[in-house]
Amino acid sequence: MALIGIDLGTTHSLIAYYKDGKANLIPNVHGSFLTPSVVSVEKDGNILVGESARERFISHPDNSVHAFKRMMGTAREWQSGKRKFRPEELSALVLRSLKQDAENFLGEPVSEAVISVPAYFNDIQRNATKQAAAIAGLQVTRLINEPTAAALIYGLNDSEDDKKYLVLDLGGGTFDVTILEYFSGVFEVHASAGDNHLGGEDFTQVIIDWINQECVSKKLECPSNVMAYKLAEAAKKQLSKSSAVEIPVSDTDVLLFDQAQFEKIANSLINRIREPIIRVMQDTELTPADFNDIVLIGGSTRMPVIHQFVTKLFKRFPRQTENPDHVVALGAAIQAGLIARHEELNEVVMTDVMPYSMGIATHNESEPDNHIFTPIIERNQTVPVSKEERFSPITDKQSEVELKIYQGESRFAANNLYLGELSSPMPQDLKKRYVDVRFTYDVNGLLEVIATTGDGSHQRLVIQQTEGRMSDQEVDEAFKKLAELKIHPREKAVNKALTIRLDRLYEQAIGERREQIGEWISTFNKTLATQDEKRIAADVKALQKILDEIENRDWF
Ligand code: ADP
Ligand code: MG
Repeated sequence: MALIGIDLGTTHSLIAYYKDGKANLIPNVHGSFLTPSVVSVEKDGNILVGESARERFISHPDNSVHAFKRMMGTAREWQSGKRKFRPEELSALVLRSLKQDAENFLGEPVSEAVISVPAYFNDIQRNATKQAAAIAGLQVTRLINEPTAAALIYGLNDSEDDKKYLVLDLGGGTFDVTILEYFSGVFEVHASAGDNHLGGEDFTQVIIDWINQECVSKKLECPSNVMAYKLAEAAKKQLSKSSAVEIPVSDTDVLLFDQAQFEKIANSLINRIREPIIRVMQDTELTPADFNDIVLIGGSTRMPVIHQFVTKLFKRFPRQTENPDHVVALGAAIQAGLIARHEELNEVVMTDVMPYSMGIATHNESEPDNHIFTPIIERNQTVPVSKEERFSPITDKQSEVELKIYQGESRFAANNLYLGELSSPMPQDLKKRYVDVRFTYDVNGLLEVIATTGDGSHQRLVIQQTEGRMSDQEVDEAFKKLAELKIHPREKAVNKALTIRLDRLYEQAIGERREQIGEWISTFNKTLATQDEKRIAADVKALQKILDEIENRDWF
C-alpha cells in the first residue's frame, strides 16, 4: 500500500509518497507539484478543482472559492447557485483530486494518508481536517504539524547531530512557530505557538487597501475587487525580487510601490509575528543564542520584510536551504514511512507537543459572574498525554454537574475556545459527590474527555453539536453528496484549464491581440474535436508556452 503524505495548504496543496528511504513529490495531472487549493463551479454545475479552478477564479470570482482552509472549523458556508458547501467539503474536493493524481501516478489505489495541519490548529479545525479526508474517501493515519514535518526534512538532511531548530512557517493563511531538537535520531518538539489568522493573504489585503486609498486620493478609477487582488498579489511577489514595483491600476495609470511603503503598511502584521516567537522561547526557557538554525518555511517567508524582521530579532541570518513549498509534504510522507516502520527509518523517532492548554470552566466564589478556566492539561506537553483532576459540585443540592470544555490560555473561560460539554449526574451519597475528569490528547492533537463520578459511572464526551463541527451523520451525507456531484474529469483537466485561460485572455484583450487569441481558440477547439491525444498534447504545450510569454510581458 502506498505511503502518502499530504500538505493541504491555504493556497496550494501537495502530495508525496515514501519509498526506499526517501520521500518524493507526486506531480498532478498538469505535471506540477503544486495544486491550487481552489474550487470553481461552472454554469452547468460542473465542478473544477485546482489549476482550472484557479484560472476560472480570475474571470469568475463569484463562482469560485479559495483560501477556504481559513474557514475550517467554522459554520461558514460557501454558496454557488443553489448549492452550499462547507469548508470541509471544499477541502475534500481538493483532497480527492490529489488522491486521483496520486493513484494515476503510482498505479495503485490510495486510501490512507498522513495530512499536515498548522501546529496552531485547534481541536475543531483538526477534526474538520479529518472529516474533510473522510468525505474524500481517505483515512487519516496521522495529523502531523506542518513545522514538524518540515523539520523532519531539515533534520534528516543535516549531517550534524544534536541541533536545536526554531522553525517559522508563514504560509497563505496561518503562522506557526515551533522549537525542536534533533538528537541521535530523535526529533523532539519542545514547544509550538502561532496565529491561525496571519498569513500571506493578510499581506495581500493591506496592499489592496493601499491601492484603493491611493486611487481615491489621486482621483483615479479604482480597479475591480478581483483586479485589485491580482495587482496586489503580483506586486507583493515582485517586491520579493526588486525594491520597487509599478502597479498598473488602469491602462494609463501606474502607482509606484516600494519596500519602505510595504513595510509601513504591513507594520502591524509584521509585529504580530513577534508574539508567538516570544511565547515559545519563554515556554522552553531558550534564548536566541541556543538555536543552531532559524528555519523559514512557507511561501510568505520569501518576503524581504520577513527576512529582515527575523534577522533583526535573532541577530543572524535565517536558513532556507530546502524548497519552502515542498518540505511540508515531503515531511508528511516521511511520517507515513515512520508509521509503517520502514527499515531505513528505524532509528528515527519523533515526538510532538500540543500548543494549547485544555480545561474546564469552574465557578469561583470571589468572581461569581465569570467562569474561571481551570486547565487540566497545560500547553506544550508531549503528546500523547493524559491527566485527571477531581471536581466537586458547588452546592449539596445539585443533581448533576456540567462540564464545559475549553481550549486556550485566558483565565476567563469565555475568552477561550468552547469545544463542547457533558453533564455528569451526581450521586446522593455525600462521600461520592465528585467527578474525576480525565483529558487525553492523542498523537494527532485531538482531545478525548472521560468523566468518572464518585460511584464509578463513566461518561465519554461526545462533543455536542457546536456550530463549527460536523456530526458523523453529516460527514456520511457529505461523502454521498460528493459522489453525486458532477466533477470535471481529472484526465481532461489540462485541456479544460487551457480553454478557460484562453477565454479569460480573450475577454481581457482588445484589438489585434483579441483577434489573435480568438484564432487560437478556434484552432484549439478543432484539435480537440479530432480526439487525437498526441495532436491535442502538442497544441496544449505550444499554446501554454505562448500564453506564458504573453502573460509575463503583460505582468500577470
Ligand atoms: P499555504 O501552505 O498556506 O498554502 P504557502 O506556503 O504555499 O501557503 O504560501 C502561500 C503564500 O505565500 C501566499 O500568500 C503567497 O502570496 C505567498 N508567496 C508565494 N511566493 C511569494 C513570493 N515570492 N513573495 C511573497 N509572497 C509569496
Ligand atoms: Mg503550507
